Amino acid sequence: MPSICVYCSSSNAISEVYPPVAEALGREIAHRGHTLVYGGGAVGLMGVMARAAHEAGGNVTGVIPSKLQDREGIAYEADELLVTETMRERKKLMYERADAFVVLPGGYGTLEEFMEVLTLKQLGYHDRPIAILNVDGFYDTLLDFFEELREGYFAREAITDLAHVVTTPEAALNRLDVVPAEDGLPS
Ligand code: AMP
Repeated sequence: MPSICVYCSSSNAISEVYPPVAEALGREIAHRGHTLVYGGGAVGLMGVMARAAHEAGGNVTGVIPSKLQDREGIAYEADELLVTETMRERKKLMYERADAFVVLPGGYGTLEEFMEVLTLKQLGYHDRPIAILNVDGFYDTLLDFFEELREGYFAREAITDLAHVVTTPEAALNRLDVVPAEDGLPS
């Protein structure tokens, strides 16, 4: 089963525009028979998405550092819950388990995770698909900034050379031509 790693918000306080999209993504991953790999928490878009995937009969893998279990909750909907010692191990495991990546709206944590898979792709460490789910224009300012980076030659590739920018969960999954992952994080 291809595994889709989703990075997304852990906040419960965000606009009500976003949870339905996370829910639809979780459901769609389940319907397509993919495994959802995510940060393992019960909060924010993470929790909404994992519950939806689980309720739709999907296979859910959560990866959470032990220190964050209190803060982000325990994902009872995860069929497999991997508890790591460190944040780095969490990110490494999520990366290794993923055949493709989807980025939903999120905060610093989501951006950190996204930038890592983006920069590793830019450097040729992997060639797995990345979809940015630009819900309601959430990522417009970041995408404009990426374009400025390219125009100023700070970045070689346009963001669209490295990732698919889409607006719906269906489009995100349609664009992810998933093949099994082989490589781990570079050391
Ligand atoms: P946020 O987008 O800030 O709500 O965070 C989304 C998820 O990213 C949460 O589960 C955070 O614990 C996680 N996260 C935050 N920082 C990091 C990091 N440096 N490495 C891996 N995951 C992180």
